[in-house]
Amino acid sequence: MNGDLPRRRFSPSRVLPYRVTTVVVIGAGQAGLAMSHQLDRRGIDHVVLERGEVANAWRHERWDSLRLLTPNWQCRLPGFRYAGPDPDGFMTMPEVVDFLHGYARKLSAPIHTATRVMSVRPAPGGYRVVTDAGDWQCRAVVIASGACNLPVVPALASSLPASLHSLTTRDYRHPCQLANGGVLVVGASATGVQLADEIQRSGRPVTLAVGEHVRMPRRYRGRDIQWWMEASGLLDQRFDEIDDIERARRLPSPQLMGSETPATLDLNTLETRGVQRVGRLVGLRDHTLQFSGSLAAHCAAADLKLGRLLETFDIWARHRGMDNDLAPPERFPTTRLPASPRLSLDLNRGEIRTVLWATGFRPDYRWLHVPVLDRKGRLKHHGGVVEAPGLYALGLPFMRRRKSSFIHGVDDDARELSDHLLGYLAGYPSDSSEGGKGGNRLAQCGLPRRNRMDAHPRVVLTEGD
Ligand SMILES: Cc1cc2nc3c(=O)[nH]c(=O)nc-3n(C[C@H](O)[C@H](O)[C@H](O)COP(=O)(O)OP(=O)(O)OC[C@H]3O[C@@H](n4cnc5c(N)ncnc54)[C@H](O)[C@@H]3O)c2cc1C
Repeated sequence: MNGDLPRRRFSPSRVLPYRVTTVVVIGAGQAGLAMSHQLDRRGIDHVVLERGEVANAWRHERWDSLRLLTPNWQCRLPGFRYAGPDPDGFMTMPEVVDFLHGYARKLSAPIHTATRVMSVRPAPGGYRVVTDAGDWQCRAVVIASGACNLPVVPALASSLPASLHSLTTRDYRHPCQLANGGVLVVGASATGVQLADEIQRSGRPVTLAVGEHVRMPRRYRGRDIQWWMEASGLLDQRFDEIDDIERARRLPSPQLMGSETPATLDLNTLETRGVQRVGRLVGLRDHTLQFSGSLAAHCAAADLKLGRLLETFDIWARHRGMDNDLAPPERFPTTRLPASPRLSLDLNRGEIRTVLWATGFRPDYRWLHVPVLDRKGRLKHHGGVVEAPGLYALGLPFMRRRKSSFIHGVDDDARELSDHLLGYLAGYPSDSSEGGKGGNRLAQCGLPRRNRMDAHPRVVLTEGD
């Protein structure tokens, strides 16, 4: 020892109780990774914070047999796409995880896994992001934490008899997990019909409670239905072209599944397999579940909408002069209905041992301490531009386009929002006139004028922030 003080290497964290970056991206699913790619391309310094691992939701929150319902050729992200030997196949969950890991490896920004964001608050110059692995100060935050964090279950679930096993699709992995005996699956979107099918095949008789649903064949006129959805431009429909965007954002996912051999899975398929279909679950009284009498109406509406969709595709194909390259138009049999669907189910009879809630999900924003949630707890945003300066969202249903929440859909949204973010960081006013500097910059971003006008009103820092 020569008496000098020990030399300490400079580390900002020794000086500041937080680290500094320009943008914090929350979540390392496809949305967070795609945003990271776009920020990288624009030279914007950022980090990705992920509470679990890359592709955490695909790895830990889906059931074992699940395959993507979108074909492999549609698995593409900015700068990356499926390049395997089976473009028409459907990835299993381990394959999706590998795919996203492959993408993450190509990105240069640091991805901090095992880092849970505990709070985001406005702070001078941007936001303070508190995590269980240290804090960050940043100018902007991209919320890519997923749309399916918390299962949505009707209130009556808490009044079910304790003898019944009640679980959500988030906790379901495979049929062996369920008691032998009958299973009530509530909800007939993509998840509900896939699990009703799997459980019925396992020898447990399934009753499926059906409300509003979207019917779709796997293939139409010799092409996968996703080809039609994409080629016809339907998936590119923008949020500001839709009359009732809130309703469009709440639409159930289509009754589709991915499998080794492409197959349609609709209520007729399930009927053939022996699944009993009933109306929407509406009540529970004295240990008796009550179903609405609306099964026929919901099925008729789904049949009608399917017919209209196919007609739209036919017209599009004709206008494009493609009729000769495609199989002739086809129409599918209407949904077969039980002669008199059950309106009640007495739980004392032991017919049902398990209730599986396939009733949807919602995002979890309990960590977000910025006044940008509506009274239902939904994020107030305009095409992903959240109502607070420098706050963005990505990956929400129909966020900027019909395809926004899908793997292939995040590319366009991430590109446009990162352009907007670049403009924000450069200090371009978000409500500037068309002729101004900022107006030009934002016009280049592809944001429609009304989006530009109301983007980013000022946030007021409150006591304690
Ligand atoms: C059952 C099911 C099947 C689907 N099938 C398809 C399909 O076939 N094709 C398709 O294109 N899309 C499909 N989707 C839709 C969509 O692609 C997925 O929901 C996808 O996971 C969404 O990606 P994301 O990046 O937006 O969100 P997520 O994958 O949910 O990623 C969000 C990430 O944020 C992390 N996170 C959350 N909160 C925090 C926090 N506080 N701090 C740090 N990290 C946090 C999570 O751990 C997660 O890794 C399906 C969805 C579901 C639910």
